[in-house]
Amino acid sequence: MLELNELQANAESGTAPAPRQAVLDMKEYHPPLGSRDGLRLDFNENTLQCSPRVLEALRNITAAELTRYPQREPLESLVAEHLQLDPAQVLLTNGVDEAIHVLCETYLDEADEILFSVPTYSMYEVYASGAGARLKMIDAGKDFAFPFEQMLEAITAKTKLIFIANPNSPTGSTASREQLIQIAKRAPHAAVLVDEAYFHFFGETVMDQVGRIPNLLVARTFSKAYGLAGLRLGVLAAHADSMHWLRRVISPYSVNSLALACLRPALNDEIYLRWYVDQVLAARTEFAEALDLLGVRYWSSKANFILVKIGAKHKEFVEAMRSSNVLVRDRSSDPGCGGCVRVTIGTREQMADAIPVLKQSLLEIGWTRDA
Ligand code: PMP
Repeated sequence: MLELNELQANAESGTAPAPRQAVLDMKEYHPPLGSRDGLRLDFNENTLQCSPRVLEALRNITAAELTRYPQREPLESLVAEHLQLDPAQVLLTNGVDEAIHVLCETYLDEADEILFSVPTYSMYEVYASGAGARLKMIDAGKDFAFPFEQMLEAITAKTKLIFIANPNSPTGSTASREQLIQIAKRAPHAAVLVDEAYFHFFGETVMDQVGRIPNLLVARTFSKAYGLAGLRLGVLAAHADSMHWLRRVISPYSVNSLALACLRPALNDEIYLRWYVDQVLAARTEFAEALDLLGVRYWSSKANFILVKIGAKHKEFVEAMRSSNVLVRDRSSDPGCGGCVRVTIGTREQMADAIPVLKQSLLEIGWTRDA
């Protein structure tokens, strides 16, 4: 601990005030966005556009709507109806990222434990480390299988949060409904988040268990299938008793008026959503077939992306793809993902364009099957 005069001397020499210890120790995360010109197969977004009805709603925003503070509650009722939940069980958030942050702020004290398998979505570690909690990270099984038994065994009296992305990123692997329910039941003292960001490309859910299992929470996003990553809109569903605490923590206006105005048209345009999801599912199969033909290893995925094993030249591969205007994401520093690159799946036409670029890039880097 520094003395007051030392602190004053630091301040005079221009040293910024120190943050709290957990922030000093916190894992840093800066998404490698850079220039995004080209075919965006790097961030698992919708690769085309949102529903035209959403664009129309944005064009019709009035000045009066912008002068008012946003009111999320009416839209929470709409989402509740859509999900067949009670309005008291639904919280709109500034993307699932805010839901993750709010959960960490609500449940984690410094000595508490948070449990998640790795590799998984980076923000779990970022926000949990910011709260100063103990991170218990369980390695995925063979071929990134969900480590169900190990997760169960890792639950202790100190476990306050469990995060499970289903489907998982960057692997596309899944946990079964029974496994998720068993984990929630084994840890009644912990909040268990099932992050269903990629739900639309998978189709299985535990949303129907919200409210029935008191400690189960489910997150969904408008960033993926709906094509609204830029608006920042997520949904957190939980038992009304948990919501009471989450509402205490969340910033009251974190979902802005533009996002709220787009919610109804986005939900209502089911035809557009179905069309986009069908495109991705067909393109996912076609892309996997192309990888099979080339002999490139990949992991079967239930999401809108496929994790591909390129090997030692993963960086060169990403660069070669980029120089042909196809952006993909190097995931080789994720646990267990050495040499891996994640490719978002777009529409059939986009992926048909991406396949020759992939072939050419493999040639350019001198890739061989046993690389
Ligand atoms: N969860 C998972 C598993 C994700 O992959 C992502 C986005 N990459 C998110 C949550 C974040 O979603 P949002 O844009 O709604 O914050």
